Amino acid sequence: MSAGSPHTRVAETPMAPDAGARMHAFVAELYPFCRSITGDGLRRTLALIASRIPLELHEVPTGTPVFDWTIPREWNIRDAYVKNAKGERVIDFRESNLAVVSYSAPVRATMTLAELRPRLHTLPDRPGWIPYRTSYYKEDWGFCLSHDRLQSLPEGTYEAVVDSTLAPGSLTYGELLLRGERADEVLISAHACHPSLANDNLASLAVATELAGMLASAPRRYSYRFVFAPGTIGAIAWLAANREGVDRIRHGLVLACLGDAGRPHYKKSRRGDALIDRVAAHVLTHHGPHAVREFSPLGYDERQYNSPGFDLPVGSLTRTPNGAYPEYHTSADDLAFVRPEALADSLSILLDIVSVLEEDAVYRSTSPFCEPQLGKRGLYAALGGRTSQDDLEVAMLWTLNLADGRHGLLDIAERSGLPFDRIRRAADLLREHELLVPAEDAR
Ligand code: ZN
Repeated sequence: MSAGSPHTRVAETPMAPDAGARMHAFVAELYPFCRSITGDGLRRTLALIASRIPLELHEVPTGTPVFDWTIPREWNIRDAYVKNAKGERVIDFRESNLAVVSYSAPVRATMTLAELRPRLHTLPDRPGWIPYRTSYYKEDWGFCLSHDRLQSLPEGTYEAVVDSTLAPGSLTYGELLLRGERADEVLISAHACHPSLANDNLASLAVATELAGMLASAPRRYSYRFVFAPGTIGAIAWLAANREGVDRIRHGLVLACLGDAGRPHYKKSRRGDALIDRVAAHVLTHHGPHAVREFSPLGYDERQYNSPGFDLPVGSLTRTPNGAYPEYHTSADDLAFVRPEALADSLSILLDIVSVLEEDAVYRSTSPFCEPQLGKRGLYAALGGRTSQDDLEVAMLWTLNLADGRHGLLDIAERSGLPFDRIRRAADLLREHELLVPAEDAR
């Protein structure tokens, strides 16, 4: 297949040069919405993603039992503020939707600053930033503000208003299945419940949307399932609705925090030796500075996918992990904190991971008794003297040697120390010259 055709393999599809800028623009478009684990901000976010890829929206009614949990009442908010005696808004939801504790119950109260103070959340160590706080499962209300702002408030009487509703409704999640040649699935999951926070997790929604768009127009061996859901309760709801189907998931990734300037981190699946764990480690090794961590039941929805009843081969890809950067869960996780080049870099890692999953295969050399003569087939001549092509020559020798019907291309890449993509190119070339044939697919 030639590059540029509508059916070009993912491994041969170059990333658009403006992909980073485009993803950043999408983050900026989604940024203002007041998302939570239910409600219209979440719904509008998923609808906007659905305008780019054929995402299906699902609604799970309030009160639905999902394993040990229950879908909560739906939360919607129109306004929230604290006004001083002069009627000025000193805390204002319209300025930042982080200003109200997510899931705050409706309230309209006049109280002294001393009475209000226990409900005001600040970050004394970062006095210019507004923290992000939630109270999903305990009915409560409160406000978040910069410590500087709090310090500037004189004693006196204030009016606190949260114009919200907590009422029967539903929880929304989005799902897209791109069917491939096989029913076996690759799961890509990202949480979609945070309000105006850019890296956590609009960056990953934008990267996953771009990835889905690219995969949609490529030939696929695997089927790809994208799940965009509110954190914890959304993934639990999805798993409850799909309990029977999850055994089709062969590999999976939870995506989070993919837009900061930090190096990429991969956290292994609970199993620790799943193919996705090997593939991610291999790709990152050849990508540049990175870290691979063992599984822990912390973080995002890998906690649910890796719960012992499911034990799915799902790892987690982030840049700087959650909680490991000071801007995490604060107003400083803003549009400037997310970098177009980091978004593009994250997408390129995912494309490399997908390429390995798609292209890994077991071949058999048609000429296993001594090396086949590459020169008479023009394979040396075709390569010339460039260093990268010498690498391709080395890759051909490794591939011919290990193409014994037992080693796959990833095995060969790992053993040779060469990047998978070079081994794949060598295998393509050798197949063109009928020096390799597919063996029984061992995977
Ligand atoms: Zn978060």
